[in-house]
Amino acid sequence: MAQDNLTGILYGINDIRLEQTAIEEPGPNEVLLQMSCVGICGSDVHYLVNGKIGDFVVREPMIMGHESSGVVAKLGKDVKNFKVGDRVAIEPGVPCRTCRFCKEGRYNLCEDIVFCATPPVHGSLRRFYKHAADFCFKLPDHVTLEEGAMLEPLSVGVHACKRANIGIGMKVLILGAGPIGLVSLLVAKAMGASKIVITDLVQHRLDIAKKLGADETLLIRREGTEAETVKKIHELVGEEPDRTIDASGAQSSIRLAILATKSGGVAVLVGMGAPEVQIPLINALIREVDIRGVFRYANDYADALDLVATGKVDVKPLITHNYKLEDTLAAFETSKSGQGNVIKVMIHCN
Ligand SMILES: [Zn+2]
Ligand SMILES: [Zn+2]
Repeated sequence: MAQDNLTGILYGINDIRLEQTAIEEPGPNEVLLQMSCVGICGSDVHYLVNGKIGDFVVREPMIMGHESSGVVAKLGKDVKNFKVGDRVAIEPGVPCRTCRFCKEGRYNLCEDIVFCATPPVHGSLRRFYKHAADFCFKLPDHVTLEEGAMLEPLSVGVHACKRANIGIGMKVLILGAGPIGLVSLLVAKAMGASKIVITDLVQHRLDIAKKLGADETLLIRREGTEAETVKKIHELVGEEPDRTIDASGAQSSIRLAILATKSGGVAVLVGMGAPEVQIPLINALIREVDIRGVFRYANDYADALDLVATGKVDVKPLITHNYKLEDTLAAFETSKSGQGNVIKVMIHCN
């Protein structure tokens, strides 16, 4: 009998199946990994529920999983910097390496990037998976494989905070306390922000944000007016925030990001919602508020690992639920329902 390679495959809307797939041979510069942990991301749930995100449509069955870690099981013939048994975090997007964006180091903008579980590219939710060796990051002994998988969302937070140019003493507003808002909070703190205010529609997420070090939290009430919310934010920050990170993507939230940020400040947008939104652009223009997009990350994984390995950031409290690979359907159900105060669901593949 062939070796067990149980795999989580998305066939279509609300249709995930566990099936056996062939174990792939690593290419010369790849490693075969015995998979350890795969976190479920908001984007995974989006594909499950809607079958697409923007122009990325699931047309063929797609293997899920992009927030992952594993143990090196086999080396491609040219791989020199790893040995069998090394524990690694997997950066899930491998760019072309030759286009101008790749050469400029902004490889997240590469048009030919191959990114796990973004259709039509298969992901890592299986017992064994092969990946480019130079997009694997060896974990020090004291960093767990769960933390290794968490480097993926954490890298988004690192990239967002770098794009925001967060520095010592800055006042930071974070809109949305889901996984990306929470990792942004952790990174902003590590980068020297002196006060962080975070908002959400759900009180339980704000409670976690508080535990993770948010100075103030604000429960957004849908019935409040925009001007009232901006005023409340400014009261909680003590002044106008230097930097705002929108981790929600909702129009109301993007509008707040612009309106609440101090003149001359920066609003970075990480959350992805509707393709077109109505925003107070002239307000941003006359107050010189820079609006910056954030797409995934580039050259941020090593920094994310550094933050975890040095203890500056603790991502463990974000992992609220754990499932075996065999229970993938239940894991996605939990993530989808949001019940049980879920933040991050982790699937254990072996
Ligand atoms: Zn993700
Ligand atoms: Zn490229």
